[in-house]
Amino acid sequence: MKDTGESKEHQLTVALRIRPLSDAETEEAAAVVAHRVDDQMVVLMDPMEDPDDILRANRSREKTYMFDVTFDYSANQEEVYRATTKGLIEGLISGYNATVFAYGPTGCGKTYTMLGTDKEPGIYVRTLNDLFRAIEETSGDMMYSVSMSYLEIYNEVIRDLLNPSSGFLDLREDSKGVIQVAGITEVSTINAQEIMELLMKGNKQRTQEPTAANQTSSRSHAVLQVAVKQQSRSRDLLQEVRFARLFMIDLAGSERAAQTQNRGQRLKEGAHINRSLLALGNCINALSDKNGKYVNYRDSKLTRLLKDSLGGNSRTVMIAHISPASVGFEESRNTLAYADRAK
Ligand code: ADP
Ligand code: MG
Repeated sequence: MKDTGESKEHQLTVALRIRPLSDAETEEAAAVVAHRVDDQMVVLMDPMEDPDDILRANRSREKTYMFDVTFDYSANQEEVYRATTKGLIEGLISGYNATVFAYGPTGCGKTYTMLGTDKEPGIYVRTLNDLFRAIEETSGDMMYSVSMSYLEIYNEVIRDLLNPSSGFLDLREDSKGVIQVAGITEVSTINAQEIMELLMKGNKQRTQEPTAANQTSSRSHAVLQVAVKQQSRSRDLLQEVRFARLFMIDLAGSERAAQTQNRGQRLKEGAHINRSLLALGNCINALSDKNGKYVNYRDSKLTRLLKDSLGGNSRTVMIAHISPASVGFEESRNTLAYADRAK
């Protein structure tokens, strides 16, 4: 499996994770239509019953998609973390910003990948653990301080997930031109257990929506912001030399964006999710475009917040998620098309 730490020239890494069939899906012997072919290739089979219909619709039954790295049911949390995010830590303590996104429809494993469970913690906690360890191991006159905040962006409004009663928060530029969330709670604990508890609790504060299936769909983007400040001690003076941020983001379910796109409707509900995911997709597309397309960060709160962390010397990791089951076919196809690297 490719480790992103080995390929520093890659400013954008796109990964694809196919979650395992759920117990319910296994019980009803759900048809599996998405398969991992190898490290970089995924194939999606059109579940349409009648092969003639597929021919008439001028579609081929199987379509392949390419990524920098792919995972399926056989990949555990540590493997996903290592191949996507671990390699960002070195850059972070050297002053380079980075962003990791979990993208995909509701129920496909975004929160599992980022937050995970007590037994199978996800990228948030693994990253913080390795970051603290890396800082401990650096020697010399550098002093590091790490602070975290956890927020959601819902309908273009920012809320503090560690202090939900604090109301709506604004984005501001500080004196150095760095975008900050004014008044957000900043935590600087280095105890992994404590962090996990904070994040679990914060996650429960996210704006949810009960859906027909007994799933809750997240309509907000959850953003874990990790700021690393580096100071040097020279002649008894502390001087800030570097500041870098890592954003780890559990995006809102992409199904609405896809729906409104497909039907050309401007559903009021979901229009904000649509807008921010499209703005994000546009920014990321512009970044991966070698001809240097203009990047418009002002299109959404999310992209404004990430302005300094997308492009330039920053590294971006997108982990797209899909279900293996045939009922998810349309959403899987939309997600694969959004994230496919072979353009
Ligand atoms: P999302 O955040 O995209 O809506 P979740 O992360 O909540 O989806 O995943 C839906 C369900 O599937 C959860 O019960 C989760 O624990 C389970 N799940 C998702 N991905 C995996 C995985 N790779 N391995 C095991 N269980 C998973
Ligand atoms: Mg979720």
